[in-house]
Amino acid sequence: MVIVMGPEATPDDLTSIVSVVQAAGVETFVSKGVRRTIVGLVGDVTQLDAAGLRGMPGVRDVMRVTTPYKLVSRENHPERSTVHVGGVPIGPGTVTLIAGPCAVETHQLTLEAARMAQSAGAVLLRGGAFKPRTSPYAFQGLGEAGLRILADVREETGLPIVTEVVNAQDVELVASYADMLQVGTRNAQNFSLLQAVGAAGRPVMLKRGMNATIEEWLMAAEYIAQRGNLDIVLCERGIRTFETATRNTLDISAVPVAQRLSHLPVIVDPSHSGGRRDLVLPLTRAAVAVGADGMIVDVHPHPEQALCDGPQALVDADLGELAQVMTDLPVLLGKSPAAAVAA
Ligand code: PEP
Ligand code: MN
Repeated sequence: MVIVMGPEATPDDLTSIVSVVQAAGVETFVSKGVRRTIVGLVGDVTQLDAAGLRGMPGVRDVMRVTTPYKLVSRENHPERSTVHVGGVPIGPGTVTLIAGPCAVETHQLTLEAARMAQSAGAVLLRGGAFKPRTSPYAFQGLGEAGLRILADVREETGLPIVTEVVNAQDVELVASYADMLQVGTRNAQNFSLLQAVGAAGRPVMLKRGMNATIEEWLMAAEYIAQRGNLDIVLCERGIRTFETATRNTLDISAVPVAQRLSHLPVIVDPSHSGGRRDLVLPLTRAAVAVGADGMIVDVHPHPEQALCDGPQALVDADLGELAQVMTDLPVLLGKSPAAAVAA
């Protein structure tokens, strides 16, 4: 069972709840988030009166949940959620395109990539300043200088920014620039990082671990939610399989499965899953068709010189087709492309 306190709850309200629960012999775990405080109950809760608890001052909700993930489960939250990133919605009814370079390299290249993204219908800009590279000899990102470039390009284009944070110590710094924090596949079960982004007061995009089951992915999201942050977007980015023709195998069925199990929005990364430019547009079409709430796509003005993931970046010549996917496909599903925020 989970008790969600409302923002108006006082410390006394919390103390009363905890003592009622503990008096019934049930252990409590209190997570104080920026937006809400959550009391997790562990033990035999059969003696607890959920309706009575719900009536206590400061209580917003009391949930009995049978799945191992609770706050992100759809069981007690049948409505699918919409997460807003700098005013841009990601959720049911819309298809949100996020695009940009894999890594922030220079101001000029990031601005060019942002303009490419915009011309294809992207309403959020992606770009990594901290890069989680498989090799320690590969480009690791520009760090804070990259975050400053992203903030400048946001200023110039009006596009809110999505950028990765790779360790818990950097969360505050990255959150001071980013509109949305990204947790990548390699950190998808880094529980201290998940807890830190859960407390950062920014929406989070959580990629699926490349070897994580859907249940493990949702448990990872629960770590973020448990810190009081329910502004989480799940991103399917491909999983490891025996197949070597693609970098990873896009698990397209994970989209409707995760949407059925969780109320959180689910987007797809057609770039990191296939790892090949020629697959990005077909996988983007598949993502919209399967009901994804958005896509995150790599674009680069000169991919042959890119410091990271050039082979999967879309180029100028691809943008017309991407724009067409965005204008033609969502409408067939009764959705609309998410609109840009007013500059
Ligand atoms: C990225 O989006 O830049 C990235 C590193 O993706 P992933 O974590 O899915 O590999
Ligand atoms: Mn990349």
